Amino acid sequence: MTYQPDKLRYFAFALDPIHVGTGGYRLGRVDMTIVREPGTNLPKIPGTSISGAARTYAAMQENDKFPGCAGQGGHCGQPDCPICVTFGFAGTQNGSFQGLAQFSDARLLFFPVHSLAGPVWVTCPEALKDFITVAEPADEQVRVADGVQQSGRLNLGWLMLGVAGNDFAPQVPKVPQEILNHAVLVSDKTFGHIVNDNLEVRTSVSIDPQTGAAAEGALFTYEALPRASVLYFEVVVSDPKFYKIGNQTPLQNNGGKQKVVETVEKGLTLFASLGVGGMNTRGMGRLHVPNLSAGGAQ
Ligand SMILES: [Zn+2]
Repeated sequence: MTYQPDKLRYFAFALDPIHVGTGGYRLGRVDMTIVREPGTNLPKIPGTSISGAARTYAAMQENDKFPGCAGQGGHCGQPDCPICVTFGFAGTQNGSFQGLAQFSDARLLFFPVHSLAGPVWVTCPEALKDFITVAEPADEQVRVADGVQQSGRLNLGWLMLGVAGNDFAPQVPKVPQEILNHAVLVSDKTFGHIVNDNLEVRTSVSIDPQTGAAAEGALFTYEALPRASVLYFEVVVSDPKFYKIGNQTPLQNNGGKQKVVETVEKGLTLFASLGVGGMNTRGMGRLHVPNLSAGGAQ
């Protein structure tokens, strides 16, 4: 029998607008764009951003025993360090180690849009594919859940679409019923248009770090996933007993595989207060990751 690592799935609800930037500026509609999936062009949160923030927040809670393991450098690389074993390390006397928790990108599952029928959450067959299979509507049509009191035509932001049915009832565990009751299914192509047309675009002023005053000519715009967006991601957790760090089985005396899961979740818990991505100090980036611990397992 071959060993299969555990695959844990988590949902993430945006409590604030989320800006995970590409790290560069570009000319165009906004100065600071967010990361997108190649192919679909849909915004995502890269797994590296999730694991980086989780590492920092988990380390904040272990700092007495394993100081300095939070960031990119200065890892201790000890086999009993939950931070280094879970998230990996490089350049230590024990060499480099990939980390026993591997984070996928967070993908959009439901995207909130204003409509004549009130707030609705838009999704599409491609976004739902890891949960359920649904038939794809035509590009100009929607299927709505029964909480969306609208027949004839429905606007999603600026876009007017024909209501082809009110029988859409996506069964996605852990997603609040309030969201499922107001779900709207569109085609994959239409979903991409709706999301990219309804991102938050904000204008802000850069502050000169030297003077604390607004820098000259410093108005800039940035885009963000809106509050109430629903995303999901996966964390693949390998069992430490199949690994060696400096001739020792990692976490052998410190909780084993369960410690890896706990360490991941210690980090994720603080996403609701400290957030991910840039602009955390501007009231952005907080994500509630609800189904921690046993609930995270599929
Ligand atoms: Zn360490």
